[in-house]
Amino acid sequence: MNFLSKVIIQECNSYDLEKVTDKINNGIERLGGWKQFVRPGDKVLLKVNLIGPKPSESAAVTHSEFVRALVRILKRQECIVWIGDSAGGAIAGIAPTAQSFHVAGYENIAKEEGALVKNFDREGVVEVCPESNSQEKMYLAKPIFDADVVINLPKFKTHTAAIYTGAVKNVFGCIPGLRKAKYHKVAPDPESFGDIIADIHKAAKFHLHIMDAIIAMQGEGPTAGEPYAANKILISTDPMALDAVAVHMLQMDVSDVPILKTAYKRGIGEGLLQNIAVEGDYMSASIPILKDFKLPERFGSTKKQNYKALVKVIDFFKTRPKVNLKKCKSCNVCVESCPMEAIDKATKKIDYSKCIECMCCHELCMHKAVDLKKDNPVANVMMKFNRSKYK
Ligand code: SF4
Ligand code: SF4
Repeated sequence: MNFLSKVIIQECNSYDLEKVTDKINNGIERLGGWKQFVRPGDKVLLKVNLIGPKPSESAAVTHSEFVRALVRILKRQECIVWIGDSAGGAIAGIAPTAQSFHVAGYENIAKEEGALVKNFDREGVVEVCPESNSQEKMYLAKPIFDADVVINLPKFKTHTAAIYTGAVKNVFGCIPGLRKAKYHKVAPDPESFGDIIADIHKAAKFHLHIMDAIIAMQGEGPTAGEPYAANKILISTDPMALDAVAVHMLQMDVSDVPILKTAYKRGIGEGLLQNIAVEGDYMSASIPILKDFKLPERFGSTKKQNYKALVKVIDFFKTRPKVNLKKCKSCNVCVESCPMEAIDKATKKIDYSKCIECMCCHELCMHKAVDLKKDNPVANVMMKFNRSKYK
């Protein structure tokens, strides 16, 4: 039989660096070896899952030792390694990417291993035309296009709204800052959200997908679930095939997961198990099932999600950058780094018809003079109570 896609499943029961490295290297050998993917001198971006300021042990983010293993492997291939993402939080109008890099341990790893942190909220954007025409334009973080090779490092997790999140959905962090809220608003249900995700896959190239499923997240993911020792690493060049195999381990298929269902229809990759060759520590006929793995409670419940309420929440927390003239030192870093040229040099007023809420100005201002202001004053008061969480 001619298989269209290959997925490697490796058994790995700890984040011991040597073990993770061996398992990843052995998996890559089965895909033709590292030379198929990288050359000396290549800039390689590791697109992690950095959902928010969560430690690696929480299972909410790609584990820092998993990232360390990849950095070391790529350094041995004489590559320049970047670790990049933009954190979640857009629905609540917060942009905690810098803090998340610190809490997840990536900042330390970058320092210790000689990699560079690429905070997508600081790096500018590239304008792309979404294939689905659901949006006029889409703005993706520039490092994705500056890198020679992009390696997606998703985490195996449940998701209360989307049921499951893995290789396909992990690319959402390529949209910087609070712009993500706009896409949650125009596509509040997981099925239409799949079109946004498919647009990102079509607009950018992700060369390889290596999933951290050593300690997965079960229950009420993607942040409030519990760790589950799945003891696996999944590797593929095809994100859909990887996710098809991952959800099979949960006794589901691609059509059970709305984002995957849409993305599969859009031709992101192979979603049918009979067309996927499984290798590594398991074969196609022996894909393991994750016993007693808890799905989100809502999965299987007949209660329908109220997507109108979600849109109301997004509107309630709508946040915009605003220059605080009392603190501003007129250095013009924000003016020069704004990818949309939305900040007036003389007055520091922001033209919101141009602003894409990427948060570059907020992230780059050394004088903390770009505030994040909520349109709704009640939301502003609420966020003040909550602020310590995100400092
Ligand atoms: S970067 Fe900060 S201090 Fe500099 S001009 Fe912009 S707001 Fe003012
Ligand atoms: S003003 Fe410019 S830099 Fe600031 S958020 Fe808007 S688009 Fe980004």
